[in-house]
Order: sequence, then C-alpha cells, then structure tokens
Amino acid sequence: MVAQKGTENINNDKHDLLKSTQIIIHEALEKLGYSDEVYELLKEPLRMLTVKIPVRMDDGTTKVFTGYRAQHNDAVGPTKGGVRFHPDVTEDEVKALSVWMSLKCGIVDLPYGGGKGGIVCDPRTMSFRELERLSREYVRAISQIVGPTKDIPAPDVFTNSQIMAWMYDEYSRLDAFNSPGFITGKPLVLGGSHGRDSATAKGVTICIREAAKKRGIQLEGARVVVQGFGNAGGFLSKFMHDSGAKVIGISDAYGALYDPNGLDIDYLLDRRDSFGTVTKLFKNTISNKELLELDCDILVPAAIGNQIREDNAHNIKANIVVEAANGPTTLEATKILTERGILLVPDVLASAGGVTVSYFEWVQNNQGYYWSEEEVAEKLEKIMVNAFENIYKIATTRKVDMRLAAYMVGVRKMAEACRFRGWV
Ligand code: NAD
Repeated sequence: MVAQKGTENINNDKHDLLKSTQIIIHEALEKLGYSDEVYELLKEPLRMLTVKIPVRMDDGTTKVFTGYRAQHNDAVGPTKGGVRFHPDVTEDEVKALSVWMSLKCGIVDLPYGGGKGGIVCDPRTMSFRELERLSREYVRAISQIVGPTKDIPAPDVFTNSQIMAWMYDEYSRLDAFNSPGFITGKPLVLGGSHGRDSATAKGVTICIREAAKKRGIQLEGARVVVQGFGNAGGFLSKFMHDSGAKVIGISDAYGALYDPNGLDIDYLLDRRDSFGTVTKLFKNTISNKELLELDCDILVPAAIGNQIREDNAHNIKANIVVEAANGPTTLEATKILTERGILLVPDVLASAGGVTVSYFEWVQNNQGYYWSEEEVAEKLEKIMVNAFENIYKIATTRKVDMRLAAYMVGVRKMAEACRFRGWV
C-alpha cells in the first residue's frame, strides 16, 4: 500500500531539531519577559509515551514495533498533531515536532496544545492488512492518553485518510461510541472536512500573497520557484499558477525543472506519480541546489528540511522565502537571509493551514454540522491573514526576524495559560 507520501527531514540530526527549537523558544520567552521556569516547562513535552506494538504479519510471524506519542503542553486545551509512520522516526524527532505543533496552534490561535506521534516502521514494505493491524494496535496502545478532549491525532508522513479511518474505527470500538472528534484527516464520508487535502498549500498561498504585498510585488507575473512537488508543493504550484504567477522552477527528489517563461503546471501535475515525482520524465533538468539559487521573486522550499544553510544562504536570490516544509532553513541561514533583507516567512506560520483545517474538522465533528468548501476556505483565509499580520507587526516593531516573532506569538498563549493554571 502506498500511504500519504512524506519526505520529512529524514537525514537530519533529530536531536538538533529539538535543540534549535529550544534555542528560539528560550529567546522568545526572554523577549516576552518570562522566567526560566517557564522555559523549563515548555522546552520538552509534558508527556511522552513509548509503546511496544506486537503485530501479526501476513506470514504468521509477530513483529514488535515501537511507537511514540508526545503531548507537549495541554494548558490551553487538548493536544493535537499527526502520527507518522517512518523507519527513521525517533523519540527526539517526535518531541520536537510536538513542540512545533504547540507553536503552530498558538500562532493561528487554536484552543489546542501540540502533540505528535510516530511508529518506527516502513509502510512501503507492508501490506494493506498489516498496516491496518498496526494502526489499530497503536490506537489500543495509546488509548489511555488520547481522545477528543485529550489529544487528537491526524495524518503525517506516510499516513493518510485510510489510516485515520482505521484508527477512528478502533477508538470508537474501544469507547463503545462513535467518536469522530478523536482524529482528523478522515475521509469525507466519515466526518472529514472539505479542503483538508489542500489546506497547507492554501495557507502557504495566503502567506505568499501577504508577504508579496509587503514587498510591493504583484503576484500576477511574479517569478516563483517551488522545491518539492508532492502534496504541499503540488497544490501550491497549482494555486500560484492559477493566480497568475509564473512558476519558473519546480523540483522533486531526482532533480529540478526550469523554464524562465513559466512551466506548464497542469501538465506536470498530470504526469506526476503518487510520490510527487515528475522530473525523471525530462532530459533537461537542473539540480535542487541550482533550483534554490535561481533568480526569482518568491522561493518556496516545500520538500525536506535543512535545504537553506550557511553554505548557500548567500546565493539565494529570491526577495521572499516562504517555508512550506518543516525546518528547511537552518538558524544560521535565517540570520544570513534576514541580514540580506530577504523576507523569510517561517514554517510554523506558513504551514499552519493544515492544523487549522484539522481544527475545523474537529469543530464540525463536535457540532455534527458540516461546512461547505467555501466556508472552510473563508475561515482559513481570515485566520491566516490575521496570523501573518500579527507576526509581521511584531517582527517590525520589535525589530526581530519573522521566525522569532512567530515563536513569540506561538509561546505566549501557552505560557499565559500555564501561569493562570498555577503551573509556573
Ligand atoms: P510529499 O511526500 O507529498 O512531497 C515531497 C516532495 O519533495 C516530493 O516531490 C519529493 O520528490 C520531494 N523531495 C523529496 N526529497 C527531496 C530532496 N532531497 N530534494 C528535493 N525534493 C525532494 O510531502 P508533503 O506532504 O508535500 O510535505 C512536504 C513538506 O511540507 C514536509 O517538510 C512536510 O513536513 C511539510 N508539511 C506538509 C504538510 C501537509 O499537509 N502535506 C503540512 C505541514 C508541513
């Protein structure tokens, strides 16, 4: 079975991911005047559950998988975040991603804290039935700490709406109750929300539009480069193309395509495979390194982490960089881009559209009344524009980069909630 494709940061040092997040959280709390106690509380998840999951494989043997569920902070409300299935999942990565989820929820002002889950497995080598058993057993293993008012999972790397459906069904059986609010990213017929698939790219598109306004760039005719042509990059390229921008470069794991007159995005999407691969079909390709350094107005890393680093940040020619991927720019590169006057819209803001529409799904499940695609889009638009404006204003008035401003917004509500509850 091919689950949702995903290409997270697989080869990054997962410990560094947590460490660099902690560095910015510390700086953000300091700027906001919070004490070190608050940092001690927020630097790691409140809870981290590790489970062993025995699964009967198709050949009759039993394989024991390791799974995790991290709950970063539930002072604001239940925790929320995806479950990834990947051979490289580590405890530190799950922890860091749960912290990022808290930041995203704070940035778009959702009544949630961050959570994240993962199972060390390779879904590409497992049968449909093995994946179903693994998904169901994972829910049984973590059932004590999750639930519609405790912690709400969602899809992530290599998990998709089918896996969410099995997990939903298993939880409902355990609960002896239909509990659609237990999990988001479900198929529409099981209470999924319209617009969930393209929500991340829609959010990124809104950030690009707002950032372009700040820089006096007309989207009509603007030259856009997108790294990655999967869920996020594919939808995004389409939205950019449809809004009149000229997508002059796209890429996948095997190379990149460049046309200064604009690529035929509809054609490329049509030829793309289920892993977001299309460049293999072409002879005249350039490298991902060359793609990132193309002369353009807007650059969107939408593939993997660690792409803009100290060694190439000086060669980036874009006026605006909008991070659709998680962690594509290192801390050093963020400094270099900012010093060079490039407007960097950070991942925790730019990619928050996904969790926002997941929240809409949960709200619709709780009220049992469902919204049209237009209603979802309208609500998402409002939330993303407000979040962008708020962070841009803080970055400008406090003279900090957009990443630090986003972290300041992301931690503030959580820190306040912890204080009101008397935790610190
Ligand atoms: P995906 O697997 O659908 O697509 C990834 C794309 O990146 C593919 O085109 C793949 O070929 C390409 N790629 C893989 N390795 C590459 C490499 N070394 N160099 C260049 N390209 C490479 O993944 P996605 O869902 O589109 O996610 C992309 C990024 O966006 C990830 O960092 C993910 O965490 C982040 N993100 C996605 C969502 C979402 O809703 N899809 C939400 C938040 C964040």
